[in-house]
Amino acid sequence: KVDLDDVTKRFGSGGDEVVAVDDVSLEIDDGEFVVFVGPSGSGKSTLLRIVAGLEKQTTGDVVIGDTVVSELGPRARDIAMVFQNYALYPNMTVEENMAFGLKMSTDMSDDEIETRVRETAEKMGIGRLLDNTPGEMSGGQQQRVALGRAIVRNPDVFLMDEPLSNLDAKLRTEMRTEINRLQNELGVTTLYVTHDQTEAMTMGDRLVVLNYGELQQVGTPLECFYRPANRFVAGFLGSPS
Ligand code: ATP
Ligand code: MG
Repeated sequence: KVDLDDVTKRFGSGGDEVVAVDDVSLEIDDGEFVVFVGPSGSGKSTLLRIVAGLEKQTTGDVVIGDTVVSELGPRARDIAMVFQNYALYPNMTVEENMAFGLKMSTDMSDDEIETRVRETAEKMGIGRLLDNTPGEMSGGQQQRVALGRAIVRNPDVFLMDEPLSNLDAKLRTEMRTEINRLQNELGVTTLYVTHDQTEAMTMGDRLVVLNYGELQQVGTPLECFYRPANRFVAGFLGSPS
């Protein structure tokens, strides 16, 4: 599970202070898929970066599994993250890209790593691309590799920040299904940020709506859509009035 306990993040100070995340408390169950939406600047990325340990909350606590990780760095957290600009290592093959994180973060043998990478690549439909470098692949293939590279580590928690926003509409639809399928199969707890209304309404078990760093509503997509907690949520999701 992932617990956020009164998490606040402030940037800057005095008149320039920005409250990027404002007293957010949220419990996410094991295996749950939670989608975060909200306007630009509402704190979605900051919240994910705090869970990842890439950003430290100003106050509050983060719990992953049974461990309070508030003071721990990213390497001490059992998480994997996929961003919008998936940034594969350009001079490494797909296989090397996928193996790199495992080599750094586990004490698996090279043989074990190779087996795990091959199995994951097959699962992702990129088994035939293992010897290619990123420059030789389409955007969709690169995004699959980025997902594969994250999943191969078998993390407890999967963080995705607009992972499909660089893809064209057709690929986006395809990858949406793919991500849901993988998430289901692996049962990995997933926090997913998106701007895309379809992704918001279809991908997650629950939707979290943020505005100015504050939680506006947490519920199933249908609850949020048909029973918006306030006018902001109604307007943002385009709920029928
Ligand atoms: P978008 O949809 O545009 O990606 P977001 O919801 O992810 O937006 P954040 O990137 O989390 O929003 O930003 C939340 C607020 O915190 C914004 O006002 C932003 O300017 C501010 N902010 C984020 N990172 C920093 C930083 N490193 N230094 C100062 N302010 C920051
Ligand atoms: Mg963002």
